Amino acid sequence: MKNNLTEKFLKYVAQTSDAPVGIEVDRAQGIYFYDTNGKKYIDLIAGIAVCNMGHSHPEIINTVKEQLDKYMHLMVYGELVQQPQVELAEKLCSFLPASLNSVFFVNSGSEAVEGALKLSKRYTGRNELIYFDNAYHGSTHGALSVMGNKAFKTAFHPLLPNTKAIRFGIEEDLQLITDKTAAIIVELIQGEAGVRIATVEYWQKLKQRCDETDTLLIADEIQTGLGRTGKLFAFEHYNITPDILLLGKAFGGGMPLGAFIADKKLMHVLTHNPVLGHITTFGGHPVCCAAGLAHLKLITDNDMWKNVEPMGEKLETIFWKIPNVKEIRRKGLMIAIDFQDTQTNFKTLDTLLEKGIFSDWFLWCDTALRIAPPLILNEEHLEEIENLLFVNFFQ
Ligand code: PMP
Repeated sequence: MKNNLTEKFLKYVAQTSDAPVGIEVDRAQGIYFYDTNGKKYIDLIAGIAVCNMGHSHPEIINTVKEQLDKYMHLMVYGELVQQPQVELAEKLCSFLPASLNSVFFVNSGSEAVEGALKLSKRYTGRNELIYFDNAYHGSTHGALSVMGNKAFKTAFHPLLPNTKAIRFGIEEDLQLITDKTAAIIVELIQGEAGVRIATVEYWQKLKQRCDETDTLLIADEIQTGLGRTGKLFAFEHYNITPDILLLGKAFGGGMPLGAFIADKKLMHVLTHNPVLGHITTFGGHPVCCAAGLAHLKLITDNDMWKNVEPMGEKLETIFWKIPNVKEIRRKGLMIAIDFQDTQTNFKTLDTLLEKGIFSDWFLWCDTALRIAPPLILNEEHLEEIENLLFVNFFQ
């Protein structure tokens, strides 16, 4: 412990649990980070699906430095024309279906959710919101209202009225979407639930039901977006186009940035009755947008999603060799290694950490290891992981 940093962390920095991981971080590079004692960790979680191009990518760092030299915050979102914001919005839209053509920048995933819920209510004139059991969309009040876990939300009641949970992947529940529903918010691959996947047919039926009832489909791609699942966006796996797309996490290239994206005709309702229907001071911060743009260029110029499935498959083969693994659920590099036993999971997590492999668990699935490495993972990294795991270890 240097300069009692950990002691001060525990004393002055508000804690989210009684058991933080508590590694004193010194620096990070590529798929690695290093603690203040010089110990190296392989980061198999990437800040929970954030650092898709790895840590400290030189192109992102240089772009950020260049922007810092020009200007930082100037004015609340939406008033001044700022190049990094405009370029990021244009570039993003160039990879999206024509109906996703207007980008509203915010600071985080939760804020993207808040904006989308408000937009849905305002556009449809309805107020019923539907979500999935075991959904996670963030921790603010609106996002909490559409969280699919009672234990986590009950303490904060009352939340938004007129919200309704349906079961993930169960076709018969789609009838609960009616002409009273403003929107259904979905994770196309459920994250905190422990990587849960539904069929193409299911998603197409869900979209069809939305169309029949004029219900907006909000796709929360805060975790699945930007290449993580083997496509730039997860909705591409299912041949559906959401009405509102949510981005966060990797979108800022390591800086805080979120967005909700829709057709201009929807987005327009936020400009009147009332004017300034959604306000953010820092949303679309120029430095964050510059980082996001550099990151998006790296992802798309290098077709990073093409590396995802082969690496995911190989990582899965390696993790099957760990004792007591009962099931692996995976889409690209979004992976749950399920021991179907909490104790075994946490014991394995500790052993991995000791060996210098950093991973995590899932909020609603504490029997499974969570693996979401940077998308730059390569064969040498895999070999290093395998050696760490099985030489003098799980053999
Ligand atoms: N939606 C999903 C699917 C998420 O995984 C998260 C974050 N884990 C959020 C929303 C909330 O994002 P943030 O923590 O940036 O508010």
